[in-house]
Amino acid sequence: MQLNDTGLLRQAALIGGEWVSARAGPALDVRDPATGDIVGAVPDCDAVQTQAAIDAAQATFASWRAMTAGERCDLLERWYALVLAHADDIAAIMTAEQGKPLAEALGEVKYAASFIKWFAAEGRRVSGHTIPSPERDRRIVVFQEPVGVSAAITPWNFPAAMITRKCAPALAAGCPVVIKPSELTPFTALALGELAQRAGFPAGVINIVTGMPAVIGATITASPLVRKLSFTGSTRVGALLLEQCAATVKRTSMELGGNAPLIVFADADLDLAVKAAMASKFRNAGQTCVCANRIFVANAVYDAFAQKLGAAVSALNVAAGNDPASTTGPLINAAAVDKVAAHVEDALAKGGRVLARAQGREDGQFVRPLIIGDATPDMRLSSEETFGPLAPLFRFDTEAEAITMANATPYGLASYFYTRDLSRAFRVAEALETGMVALNTGSIAMEMAPFGGVKQSGLGREGGLTGIAEYLEHKAFHIGGL
Ligand code: NAD
Repeated sequence: MQLNDTGLLRQAALIGGEWVSARAGPALDVRDPATGDIVGAVPDCDAVQTQAAIDAAQATFASWRAMTAGERCDLLERWYALVLAHADDIAAIMTAEQGKPLAEALGEVKYAASFIKWFAAEGRRVSGHTIPSPERDRRIVVFQEPVGVSAAITPWNFPAAMITRKCAPALAAGCPVVIKPSELTPFTALALGELAQRAGFPAGVINIVTGMPAVIGATITASPLVRKLSFTGSTRVGALLLEQCAATVKRTSMELGGNAPLIVFADADLDLAVKAAMASKFRNAGQTCVCANRIFVANAVYDAFAQKLGAAVSALNVAAGNDPASTTGPLINAAAVDKVAAHVEDALAKGGRVLARAQGREDGQFVRPLIIGDATPDMRLSSEETFGPLAPLFRFDTEAEAITMANATPYGLASYFYTRDLSRAFRVAEALETGMVALNTGSIAMEMAPFGGVKQSGLGREGGLTGIAEYLEHKAFHIGGL
């Protein structure tokens, strides 16, 4: 099957309901990280096109918010059904531009769809409240209203889910959206946009601006019409965008970098810990913000854990994402490959040892997952996000030592720990400085739970009961003289 058999490989930006093709101006090639081949080209939109998308969104705001919540949510449900019906087609596009194994891409599409379904339900439940009045002849009513045009700037590592996690609550709340997907993975976003068009969203409610980020980002952040920016990406870019948003006092949500610890205490179920460490660390070739970047293992079980984890890593197979035998695809670009190599080199120079390595390809952008033993806090892999398939094992003796090392980072997104001691479970969960803590499980990202970080991992929460609040204002209505 060809990627575009279903008409989902759109090589155009979506502005005001019109597809603006790359032929109209400068184009940007998108390459398959497994082969280096060109998957297609998208327009490199400029400030004028970005402004046109913002204006189109603003033009539709009044009518979009005037629809009933039920009408908006019905559209979201149609979109959800179409995304699921085309899950395999979107997954094939995602693997072609992002590299992850097809099974993982399919998993991401379903995860992405789950946000649409969740917020199609949550959108129907938005409600205000009344407040007991200080005077007999007064009433105070609080409305919740859509914040206005909302922009979403998203990364390449989850090209579908990061979009629906932002847009589904925005749309349900009554906010039109302007999406700027990563320039490395625009086709997944455009496929979602095509399906939204087929679902019947009115023109201008969903706009997708493709191209290089600086100009598009500056136009979005400078515009007083954009009332909310939700960003997922690096802390460096998030901080820059926060600064840019200050001039127009925009609401922001920031889902930024992480440096997640995974702590294996001496009383842990080691098989469970290994299973979860594998999923957390090596999913998407280690290119996830919540992946276990630093694994701390109690000295008493260090050798046993290292041996079990080593066996699991040795069984991984690095191959192109569309090879059914692949468990690990290529990294996104050459810079990502270089960063892993630099972290490995630095660790080995500082006393680390390679304990195990996966099988398969190690050419081009393919990197075989590996474990480095005897890692120490002075290594780069300890303080920086590796964003690749490298699992460092650190030793510890006491609970206090493990917590101190786990918290010794400016990031605070996710943390994981393994123990069967209930008192320790509460002590450690309360002591870890992260927005999400997982005990005896490696999965924390799901539509019904709040997702987000503390410290330099960000501001705000996506998903869960509060995800839609990011797109709603409270308006206090004071009624006197009653
Ligand atoms: P990135 O910050 O380089 O890019 C993210 C997005 O920002 C892309 O769309 C990019 O085009 C855009 N961008 C870059 N420079 C910009 C600028 N000057 N103005 C406006 N937009 C700009 O991050 P990335 O490499 O795509 O993604 C990896 C990072 O994202 C990692 O740090 C990872 O931890 C983080 N991440 C966080 C979460 C989360 O939920 N907290 C989820 C996924 C990824």
